[in-house]
Amino acid sequence: MENRIELIKTEALEALSQVADAEQIKSLSVKYLGRKGLLTLFLRNISELPAEDRPEAGKQANIVKKELEAAFDAALNRAEARNRENPEDAIDVSLPGRPVTRGTLHPITHVTRQICGIFSRMGFDIAEGPEVETDYYNFEALNIPKNHPARDMQDTFYVSDNIVLRTHTSPIQVHIMEENAPPVRIVAPGKVYRCDSDLTHTPMFHQVEGLLVDTDVSFGDLKGVLEAFVHEMFDETISLRFRPSFFPFTEPSAEVDIVCVMCRGKGCKVCSNTGWLEVLGCGMVHPAVFENVGYDTRKYTGFAFGMGVERLAMLKYGINDLRMFFESDYRFLRQF
Ligand SMILES: [Zn+2]
Repeated sequence: MENRIELIKTEALEALSQVADAEQIKSLSVKYLGRKGLLTLFLRNISELPAEDRPEAGKQANIVKKELEAAFDAALNRAEARNRENPEDAIDVSLPGRPVTRGTLHPITHVTRQICGIFSRMGFDIAEGPEVETDYYNFEALNIPKNHPARDMQDTFYVSDNIVLRTHTSPIQVHIMEENAPPVRIVAPGKVYRCDSDLTHTPMFHQVEGLLVDTDVSFGDLKGVLEAFVHEMFDETISLRFRPSFFPFTEPSAEVDIVCVMCRGKGCKVCSNTGWLEVLGCGMVHPAVFENVGYDTRKYTGFAFGMGVERLAMLKYGINDLRMFFESDYRFLRQF
């Protein structure tokens, strides 16, 4: 009889040592000490034992019952204390994990790479330059002297009297020409800064600058290069038009419009019903810029162009709000 009680005790303690979770401890407790538990049933059936065995069996069974109750209580207290201290331990580790979503390239990075890719296949090198510039590189060397009205076109962030956040990627041209003799063929992507913020302007945006200098470079070469670029960037049926314009560092200067990619020239909201979209500025490098970097203006000619990356990305992907690029909204970014 004692053996039967000892067996229940050993079995119960063995089972208890295998579990740590509060719920499992509770169900074990029910299995042994509940209303239909193994020990409870044993106690209930004591009356069926031979009379001389009953007192001893009852005594033993009550001792084991108290021991098991104490063991289950202690185990339960330990489990609950663990959960209070380390709620993460209460997590079911057998659940499948949450998937880690992979990031994608930002649409601005995508379009910048695409632009640079097209030009590098045409033989242009990629160049970079500092975002914090001296007044000389940002303005003077590009034929924009102090008090020149063109400085008003560019609301500049001044770091000090002589230091600015570059307002365009054009200063890179000057650095490249100072360091390299012609021929030069570069595109230069980068961030630029202007003190301007509204629906269509942000204080920081991205440009890609292009420069080609060699002997016998003509406006026809500029047109050919830009036409090839637009056809590869959008599609071959997109036509271009060059409108006379003004930039201090090019002469003659032009702005380039493409047929509206949304309405194909019929007129829509995006193109303000004109059927055309302005996409970049360009021109033949002004001789004054060449003189500043020591290039022989009788021997060399060249062209330069510049474009806004956000503008091209908006047209390419049909995005109508510039701010979307800078809000880090994953639902927007994951589409690229
Ligand atoms: Zn349109």
